[in-house]
Amino acid sequence: MIPRLRPPFDLMDIFLSARVGDGMDIQRFEQDFADIFDFPYGLFFPYGRSAMHALIKAGGFEGKEILMPAYTCAVIPHAIRIAGGKIRFLDSALDHFNVPAANLRDALSPNTAMMISTPIFGYPVDKSGYRAAFASAESDCFELYDLAHGFVPEDIKGPQSRDAPAALFGLGISKTATSIYGGMLLLRDLSLYSEVKAWRDANYTTPSVGASLSRFIYAATIWAAFRNPLVYLCDFLERQTKLLDPLTEYYYSKDGPRLPEDNFVHPTQFQARVGRRQLGKLRMLAARRWSISETYEIRLKKEGFVPFESKGTPAFSHFPLSVARREEVVTAMRCHGIQLGNLIDYSCPDLPGYEDCEGAFPNARRFGRSMINLPNWPGMQISDIQRVVEALAKVRNAAPQLFERD
Ligand SMILES: *Cc1c(COP(=O)(O)O)cnc(C)c1O
Repeated sequence: MIPRLRPPFDLMDIFLSARVGDGMDIQRFEQDFADIFDFPYGLFFPYGRSAMHALIKAGGFEGKEILMPAYTCAVIPHAIRIAGGKIRFLDSALDHFNVPAANLRDALSPNTAMMISTPIFGYPVDKSGYRAAFASAESDCFELYDLAHGFVPEDIKGPQSRDAPAALFGLGISKTATSIYGGMLLLRDLSLYSEVKAWRDANYTTPSVGASLSRFIYAATIWAAFRNPLVYLCDFLERQTKLLDPLTEYYYSKDGPRLPEDNFVHPTQFQARVGRRQLGKLRMLAARRWSISETYEIRLKKEGFVPFESKGTPAFSHFPLSVARREEVVTAMRCHGIQLGNLIDYSCPDLPGYEDCEGAFPNARRFGRSMINLPNWPGMQISDIQRVVEALAKVRNAAPQLFERD
């Protein structure tokens, strides 16, 4: 079985991090992270969504209008809702899951306080188009890059977050780099940083003594669960039960806006140490995902598939494809020993709790129903990639209607 997910850490990362520190590792992690992405300030949170929540609360965005993609991870609108931001969703393009500049331009108004630019699956957004939209609407709204997927999507001028006032990263177990759970908020403005930090520190409690141990056990369990032959067992458990939900994408709460119970507990120094070790490998981890995905792109095109176009260099946290009949493709691929992902299998405005959101989002809804993700974790071999492509081609040749869209 080729699993769809394999955590990016080695067992050594968690063992070597399980030591007594000097209590400064969170600060070091925040500074290192900021340095790498060329921001002056970093704030480490228990989840990526917690960073979003704190920014709304402490940055003066309560009650203000916030634009964001309809096709994105549900935890972001959840956090905004709960913090009291006013969400306005933007539809995807007809032929691409990212939000096109025209949709941003149509939505911008003097009421817009923030735009969340999200390079979904690491595919760069149309940054120059977004800039032109801000300029033509004379909008000086705050732009937050949600880089929870690919960390460093680039366009022709460099990393997309190069001049944005803020960027947010997810550091959960399935992300490009991980601190087991966690999220990082990078900021450029000192006074905003000071406000968000003060708000966080006033509202968050210190983790219990057991928190590091439970994160350690969780990480070791995940590590073990995604090695063969346990992968078969996990695949079975995942399909038949909800036992593994916390280990997989399903903890993204599709039942309505809420935050995790431990949202207001600081992450541990242990997590910061794991995160710092991962930062040291970030280039390598990202480069591997990139080269696997590039290989997919070339081989899939040769087989007549149509991968998504990208303007610039994607950071490829995932390798997405759009198919006509997803469930059947997933089942058929499983028969070939390949586990596909279907990350973001919804459009946010369709989720419970967002009935009052204005607008129609036909493209986001279509992507929510049609996207699959091919396995692209670091460590996959060329032969694994070849197996995935061959299996897809076999499934398609046997049943082209599963792939063809009308
Ligand atoms: C994972 C993710 C986040 C943050 O996730 P947390 O689980 O809260 O750490 C934010 N945005 C996107 C697009 C994501 O995929």
